[in-house]
Amino acid sequence: MTVRARGGDGDGASRSRTRRLTEYEGAAAGRLLAAGELVVIPTETVYGLAAAADDPAAVGEIFRAKERPADNPLIVHYADPVSVLSLLPAALEDVETLITALMPGPLTLVIPAPAWVPRIVTGGLETVAVRVPALSVTREIIRAAGRPVAAPSANRSGRPSPTTFEMALTEMDGRVAAILDGGQCRIGIESTVVDVCTPGVFSVLRPGQITADDIAAHTHRRPAPAARIGHSPGTRYRHYHPEVPVVVVPPQDWDAAWEEARTVCREPRALRAGEIGTYTAGLFRFFAEAEAAGADCILVEDVPEARAPGLHDRLHRAADRNYRPGVIQELVTS
Ligand code: AMP
Ligand code: MG
Repeated sequence: MTVRARGGDGDGASRSRTRRLTEYEGAAAGRLLAAGELVVIPTETVYGLAAAADDPAAVGEIFRAKERPADNPLIVHYADPVSVLSLLPAALEDVETLITALMPGPLTLVIPAPAWVPRIVTGGLETVAVRVPALSVTREIIRAAGRPVAAPSANRSGRPSPTTFEMALTEMDGRVAAILDGGQCRIGIESTVVDVCTPGVFSVLRPGQITADDIAAHTHRRPAPAARIGHSPGTRYRHYHPEVPVVVVPPQDWDAAWEEARTVCREPRALRAGEIGTYTAGLFRFFAEAEAAGADCILVEDVPEARAPGLHDRLHRAADRNYRPGVIQELVTS
């Protein structure tokens, strides 16, 4: 392995303890999880930092490795939609349609927590977030673990989620037992989180590739936007932010913004929108590459929220500023 990691605790000896697994070693990853170890696993959305969900000590290690606040709960990943169906209380039977239509996939449902779920997983809440990843190796790993796995994104808290094996190494080498190489994540942003705890109401807590329109198309019920920030604990924290300042630029201002960046920045980097799926899949990788190249300013092109709500959300959370003339100068000299 030629990749040099910048992450970890800076100790070469501990770095070497992290095993690199190939996509053919899902069973080995599952065995490590069953033994209480942390393993970074690929999914179709982003890389996840996994531990056995029924092992509070192992889950505690996730929070330590990520430096994640204890009140930010984790998503529990299952291998099959039937397992999620079996968790639903009778009053939520109409959620079945949603599960049948959109799982496996980039959709997380917040449901009442079954009694077995350790409090450390839910951050003390009475609810738990559950998802069935679509990537086959991820489901193989969970099956081999013999239990659901708790897995937040595998970034250190506040940073963009890893979407390639190299990014996962940068974030977690030396902090985990193994990292499994699943290549580039197909979707590239985290799952859509929908609270379905109130009978008859779906509420989007975090936008993602699956939109309110998709949910309405399958269930004939239009989700409500999250009632208030803080309803999903994770939305309280600064997220998806690279070390380099980010400016989000409306398409009509692109030329002016680039001109300003070239004038005032030493090493500007810019990413234009293009096709939405490609833009989304490559966004966090672009941030990582810009950081590694020593960029001092990143421009990203804005997209309308209605066209791509998940991508729009990540662009604006990553951004230090929206573009207006002079703002790049302010940012790089501040
Ligand atoms: P991550 O896996 O790092 O992308 O973060 C998981 C996201 O799911 C965070 O935004 C959490 O706030 C959200 N989440 C997890 N469990 C719950 C829950 N029980 N209620 C509401 N949001 C949750
Ligand atoms: Mg995250």
